[in-house]
Amino acid sequence: MIDNKETVKPGFANGISLQLHKSQQQHNMSDVKLTDTQKYEIIENAAEKFGEFLNALGCDWKNDPNSADTPRRVAKAYVNDLWKGRYETFPEITSFPSDGYDGIVIERNIPITSMCSHHHQTIRGVVHIGYVVGEEGRVIGLSKLNRIVEHFSRRGAIQEQLTAAIHNSVNKICEHNRGVIVTIAATHNCVSCRGIKHQGASMITTKASGVFRENDNLSRKEFFDSIKINNGGHQV
Ligand SMILES: [Zn+2]
Repeated sequence: MIDNKETVKPGFANGISLQLHKSQQQHNMSDVKLTDTQKYEIIENAAEKFGEFLNALGCDWKNDPNSADTPRRVAKAYVNDLWKGRYETFPEITSFPSDGYDGIVIERNIPITSMCSHHHQTIRGVVHIGYVVGEEGRVIGLSKLNRIVEHFSRRGAIQEQLTAAIHNSVNKICEHNRGVIVTIAATHNCVSCRGIKHQGASMITTKASGVFRENDNLSRKEFFDSIKINNGGHQV
């Protein structure tokens, strides 16, 4: 079965790569991985084109010892780190019965390093995730929330998309939940290093469903109170 936890259009900067999508379609399975040869081909092709990009900028990179291997370095960084989540399948995550626990689960201050798809500049900050376990509900191991964050943040995205992707994925995996909330607080290099060039401004986005959408709900209050405790006087 094709993985329905990937909620984004394949090929888009915030979706899986077209190469991985094609492999999944061919095998009609979501856990098909790219082979080392396929990854190598992507890196080689991207390196060649990045060399052309530098040529267009009038950079004599081939004769500059510090830049001679830069196209390959950049291509490798994209495939292996910066956009890693586009070339890998969704992490294997098992949910467990909650055994009568029907309260709130919060994980706060999950670090993210991502990249805005508008300018290809770094986004850095923290993610806070909460969900309320329903009767007969399912819970997942805490570190699995970190894995979901890592999977979606290692792509190009705008912060709004990233917030929604993490939310929708937790919502699907933690079946029969009574609500899911995801807040991201992050600074964007495209704001601090180019354009307006303002340092220190951070962006806060929140996507909430179920009980968290009600303004006077105690779970929503508990979630935001716990973020406040954690971040008191602390800048992201
Ligand atoms: Zn940007």
